[in-house]
Amino acid sequence: MEAVDPGQLEHARVMLSGAQRVVVLTGAGISTDSGIPDFRGPNGVWTKNPAAEKASNITYYLEDPEVRRAAWQSRLDAAAWSAEPNRGHAAIVDLERSGRLHAVVTQNIDGLHQRAGTDADRVIEVHGTIWFSRCWECGDRRPMAETLQRVRDGDLDPACEDCGGIVKSDTISFGQSLIPDVIDRAMRVSEQADVLVAVGSTLSVYPVANCVPLAKSRGAKVIIVNAEPTEMDGIADVVLRGSIGDILPQMFAPGGNT
Ligand code: NAD
Repeated sequence: MEAVDPGQLEHARVMLSGAQRVVVLTGAGISTDSGIPDFRGPNGVWTKNPAAEKASNITYYLEDPEVRRAAWQSRLDAAAWSAEPNRGHAAIVDLERSGRLHAVVTQNIDGLHQRAGTDADRVIEVHGTIWFSRCWECGDRRPMAETLQRVRDGDLDPACEDCGGIVKSDTISFGQSLIPDVIDRAMRVSEQADVLVAVGSTLSVYPVANCVPLAKSRGAKVIIVNAEPTEMDGIADVVLRGSIGDILPQMFAPGGNT
């Protein structure tokens, strides 16, 4: 991965040193250093296996028991169960300790921000969480560990124990509507930001990507940290191209020092 431009990094640090309400928007790229692959990066799940996109689509999941059985099998040994937070997650905790973090809006479903120590009340999980399962019919929600145990015990497509409905992880699949209160909160904190930092996202998944132009239109500075170009680079004040694990600790260090 290319080395970050020191002038741009300094520019970002100066912006952040005067900020009081920083919103950090994170995508799958912040968790790749924890061993969880992203979807669209060079080693992404979909880049390597375009058929995997099907399992993430709600229509196929609801209509096809084969797709559900395959999804439950791959959930059994998902990288997220054993993943540990990395330097990028820890740097956001440092930002919070310095009193400047307003909220983390995350597209991720892995729970690593909370595990790193970010206050759960500040984490807005717009695409849900894999740590719970939910019935599509009645909404019954329970720890994923319980449901996975049923799969391990031989129930390959476990139905809801209350109503018999289809069960899935408590995440937002492609084609599924977001939870209005959650996405509204993400938009509200973006409007309140004085700096919005988008990290490890192609910024191509909507409506959450709209947080970036919304924050900008309300006067926030926008910093983008990603290895590859994103859809929003054109409206960013600073674009830092490089490794998230290298850049975030330098950018968020107390006092702006490396
Ligand atoms: P994405 O896969 O579309 O893009 C990730 C981006 O991060 C890519 O541009 C990639 O080049 C960059 N990247 C990866 N590792 C990096 C690193 N170490 N340093 C710098 N850049 C790096 O991700 P997305 O935009 O978040 O969209 C995928 C959707 O799928 C999300 O909305 C999310 O719901 C879901 N998802 C979540 C997880 C997770 O929870 N960890 C993992 C995969 C997908």
